[in-house]
Formats: sequence, C-alpha cells, structure tokens
Amino acid sequence: MKYGMVIDLRRCIGCDGCNIGCKNENNVPTGFFWAHHILEQEGEFPNYHYRYIPTLCNHCSNAPCIAACPVEPKAIFKLPNGITMNSQERCIGCRACEHACPYDVISYNPQGEDVHPDWQRDEARELVEKVGGNTVPWYNPDPGNTWAAIREPHKVEKCSFCHHRVEVGEQPWCVEVCPATARFFGDLDDPNSEVSTLLAENEHFVLQPEAGTEPQVYYINDFDQKS
Ligand code: SF4
Ligand code: SF4
Repeated sequence: MKYGMVIDLRRCIGCDGCNIGCKNENNVPTGFFWAHHILEQEGEFPNYHYRYIPTLCNHCSNAPCIAACPVEPKAIFKLPNGITMNSQERCIGCRACEHACPYDVISYNPQGEDVHPDWQRDEARELVEKVGGNTVPWYNPDPGNTWAAIREPHKVEKCSFCHHRVEVGEQPWCVEVCPATARFFGDLDDPNSEVSTLLAENEHFVLQPEAGTEPQVYYINDFDQKS
C-alpha cells in the first residue's frame, strides 16, 4: 500500500478550490496553506502565458524532512500506507524539517487555537443567524478523529492527505472539491488503481526530481510539455 496523488494539469483550471477546500477541511490557520500552488507568468498581453501547478506535501518515499528531524522517535515520520505524518506531541518546533523540505510545504504555526479569528467575531455569529444557521463554522472537528483538529502553536504542520478521511475510506477533500476533476488519489502499489492506470497511460512528472526525494504526487503533462 502506497498512497499517492495524480494531478492532471490539462484539466486544472487554476481556480484555487483545492487551496480553499483544504483550509476549511483541516482548519489551516490564516497566514499559510497546506495545499497551495506555483504560479509562473510570462510576457504581456496578447502574448501572455501562465502556468499554474497545484502543490501539497509530496509524501516523498525518501523524505529529507524525516531525516532532518532531531527528535527520537521522529516527530515527522512515515505511516505504513506511505503518508508522511507529524506528531504534535513529539514536535519541539525547531523547524529543521521545514528547512529540509525542498518544496516549502511545511508551515510553522505561530497561532495555535486562533485558527480563524474572524469566524469567532460577533459579526460572524450575526451573519450565520441571518442566513438561518445555528453554528458559527469556525472549525471542522473531523481531523481530530485521527490526529489534531487544531494544531498547537509553535509547532509545524502540513498536508496529511486528509488522514482522517482516508482512514475511513474517503478521498482527500481537495480531490472531492476540485470542480474540474483534476485530482486523483489512491494506491500506487495497486497496478489496477485509478492513479496507477493514469500514470501508465500518460506522460507525467514530479517536482524537483533532481532532489532525489521520490515524490508521490505526480503531474500529468501540461500543454507546454505535451509532445
Ligand atoms: Fe517531507 Fe516536504 Fe517531501 Fe512532504 S514534500 S514528505 S514535507 S520533504
Ligand atoms: Fe486545479 Fe482542481 Fe485545484 Fe482548482 S481545485 S486549482 S481545478 S486542482
């Protein structure tokens, strides 16, 4: 079992839905993202080109973040299913993993409990009442089923492939919310899985292969790279 993701850049419309969906699902604090993107822009209208590449933890098979963690047992570690997880209990907030990751997908949380301070204001409550709701949606408790719904301050956090959802047989939330069906998730060790089939049938690449990290997030060729 090795979980991985395939992102089809021919389908991606660069809407940021994955970035926002991840924030909502995982209570990612203001100031950083677990799911983000690389945006490259070149030229001027009408000869303007841009390239949007969604990013997240690559759940690398040879993860330098784990090697860099000085804590024993490691505070950032591999699950048997290939997911790179981190432990809130063991993390000492030294940020060594953050500096070792070549993809800039680990974030240091200075805020802790103040996840969405704006959602806790009276105005938010009034707005929710106005539209007929009865709960201020200031955080989603679901990640707490397997990990931490809200992470502690002065520790690092990052994408867990929505561990709490995957553990109960669901897809990561970024896969669910993508309106373009550009993201696919599954077992890369199963040759019949959707992700394995997509990789077998399409040219693909990983980010920074020269770093030797063996990323498990794959991109199906964008138009620039199509032959
Ligand atoms: Fe670690 Fe960065 Fe690879 Fe994720 S992308 S496993 S944080 S090195
Ligand atoms: Fe691309 Fe889907 Fe993310 Fe939108 S939600 S940016 S289409 S991957």
